[in-house]
Amino acid sequence: MAIATNLGFPRIGERRALKTALDAHWSGRLAEADLLAEAARLRAAHWDRQRRLGISHVPCNDFALYDHVLDTACMLGAIPPGYGWDGGPVSCATMFALARGSRGTAAEAAAGIAPGLPALEMTKWFDTNYHYLVPVLRRDQRFVLTENRPRAAFEEALAHGLRTRPVLLGPVTFLKLAKSEDGSDPLALIDTLVPVYGAILAGLAEAGAIWVQMDEPCLALDLTDDDRAALTRTYAALAAAAPKLSLLVASYFGPMADNLATALALPVAGLHLDLVRGGADLEAVLERAPEQLWLSLGVIDGRNVWRADMRAALATLRLVAQRRGTRRLMVAPSCSLLHVPIDLDAEDALDPEVKAQLAFAVQKLAEIAALTRALEEGEPAAAAAFRASDAAIEARRRSARVHDAAVARRLVAAERAGRASPYAVRRAAQRLSIPLPPLPTTTIGSFPQTEEVRRLRADHAAGRIDDAQYEAAMKRLIAEAIAWQEEIGLDVLVHGEFERNDMVKYFGERLTGFAVTRHGWVQSYGSRCVAPPIIWGDVARPAPITVAWAAYAQSLTAKPVKGMLTGPVTMLQWSFVRDDLPRETVCRQLALAIRDEVADLQAAGIRIVQIDEPALREGLPLRRADRPHYLAWAVDCFRLAAGAADDATQIHTHMCYSEFNDIIAEIAALDADVISIETARSRMELLDAFVSFEYPNEIGPGVYDIHSPRVPTVEEMARLIAVARSRIPADRLWVNPDCGLKTRRWEEVRPALANMVAAARRIRAEMAPG
Ligand code: GLN
Ligand code: ZN
Repeated sequence: MAIATNLGFPRIGERRALKTALDAHWSGRLAEADLLAEAARLRAAHWDRQRRLGISHVPCNDFALYDHVLDTACMLGAIPPGYGWDGGPVSCATMFALARGSRGTAAEAAAGIAPGLPALEMTKWFDTNYHYLVPVLRRDQRFVLTENRPRAAFEEALAHGLRTRPVLLGPVTFLKLAKSEDGSDPLALIDTLVPVYGAILAGLAEAGAIWVQMDEPCLALDLTDDDRAALTRTYAALAAAAPKLSLLVASYFGPMADNLATALALPVAGLHLDLVRGGADLEAVLERAPEQLWLSLGVIDGRNVWRADMRAALATLRLVAQRRGTRRLMVAPSCSLLHVPIDLDAEDALDPEVKAQLAFAVQKLAEIAALTRALEEGEPAAAAAFRASDAAIEARRRSARVHDAAVARRLVAAERAGRASPYAVRRAAQRLSIPLPPLPTTTIGSFPQTEEVRRLRADHAAGRIDDAQYEAAMKRLIAEAIAWQEEIGLDVLVHGEFERNDMVKYFGERLTGFAVTRHGWVQSYGSRCVAPPIIWGDVARPAPITVAWAAYAQSLTAKPVKGMLTGPVTMLQWSFVRDDLPRETVCRQLALAIRDEVADLQAAGIRIVQIDEPALREGLPLRRADRPHYLAWAVDCFRLAAGAADDATQIHTHMCYSEFNDIIAEIAALDADVISIETARSRMELLDAFVSFEYPNEIGPGVYDIHSPRVPTVEEMARLIAVARSRIPADRLWVNPDCGLKTRRWEEVRPALANMVAAARRIRAEMAPG
């Protein structure tokens, strides 16, 4: 019998219940015991829900209060000193101090946690928008089992009446995701780590577990021979440690390709395949998989929100069944459902045409159950699910809102990507059109989103104030921001982005082809959730979006006001994207929409336009071999968006991450006149990539770390500018903060920016004495 399975359920709960509980706990309004009770309630609700949907292998230990990688590190005793851990079970206080830094609270002091400890570093979980906390290990790291958490979860579910399938982050992937503080290779610790995993598994066997899911998504990465040998050794040892357990090794997020032979040779009971992103593996699996190996077929997309093509999925399942029978088959989502919202039924305001195309976690599990039934008993056993899928596919194919002929025509009519003239020519034109002092000062776009700003937007959205009242209030905020920027002497001003809730959603709400949800939350990290817009149809810009605000701001000042746009790659990266077109085609549509906005800003007298691309790097494929193709179209899309600017219009871009070395050639190929980057915290080290590449255009390395409430002094910013000046010719250097200021408070921003202007003036004076 084929089995309906799940790899992981979203943790945050409907209406973000977990976030609410965490926030209440952190602010002292909810006792730890009550937080844990709420977490247990969520787990039980999720188990019940999955069981009711017809899932036989329901996961446990897929839940985490903050992050599953952090949970794993805590379970293994990989905890740096100072965080109050004494060798036994890890307290919530210790775990949250690792996640968020210590705050000097009484509870922390009671738990022996030093004040002012930093949080662990956070980084993206593979190529998703989920962020995990990076475990820090040492050469002589010891691992101990502080607490058998998977066993506790399994027993909790058992007491609830359900024999679940515990999920563990596999030991090899755990080490691949960790970093060492002493330059040693974390993977060298594998042989000391494996016995601890062996003990976890032995405990699970004792508790009565049958299947255990070992997540090893590192199988979708470029691995070395040593990595592969570590996998082989590890699973030989784990199979020996718990001979009665059936281990299911799960790989996802891409094909295993050159790692497939290693995976197929592991002495485990089953292997999970991501057939959405890793379908290329299937033929080789069918040829080479040992007969007794269970295959878990990830046919339902766990990374996207579209209803499945049930017939195509069933055809894949049947193909496998024909070759191997259905005795050892599991039907599964491609990966954990952590990456999709929970329940489409909660969306009461979604356009019905769009809603009919979608499936969130709950709907995806119903699809899995229906496919399993259809595989065993034939399609009529799941007739309703197939009818709904057929209808949705047909509607999507025919919809005039999905397929806009004008957009298609425009895509083939080649508009120039990139500017008409080379940088040197543009630069001369811009010197005339935009008179600026040396080391011009500016900001990245947003100003503090105060209570008042957020209330205005909410009141407007809810109809409590009308358009005219809203516009008047926004104009007042803009006018205040302009007056204040002039007063402190900034050179290039911004309007402040008060009208924007979110830099992607704001544009998504104003472009065709986008839908936004009300409750479509997905965990980004810890209690932080995002509700990505959904790109479901061809994208076009029916009317100007930002022009009125920018033009109003410009009307108030003789200084240049910089228009603010979100770039096409970032919009793509931070949305759920339709799967019936290549991503690069969707990105090109977005680029053309932004291009129209650039043209209109320019026509309205805006001389500087910034096109933010903070997510450019995030789009990098997991495999090195796939990167050049991605970078080529991503750069091309930016150039297409910027291509509407005349020589005399200055195009800025902004990026806020730290690794430029491997993509510096592509950053240069964007050919923005000015790029601003985050450098304050690294004390300008990040400039290295630009210096050694001899980056040809202008650059604004951040001198003000906006992640901290601290107000930097004139001296320290002047020092940073001096460092930058020693490395980048002064006539190509700008002075700005690291990023937007929307998360800061005016009390910090005002003095910090005044100091920044003073620092720039001081260096200017040194450059031209007298
Ligand atoms: N212009 C945006 C802002 O200032 C840029 C944000 C970002 O880089 N993430 O908020
Ligand atoms: Zn930024």
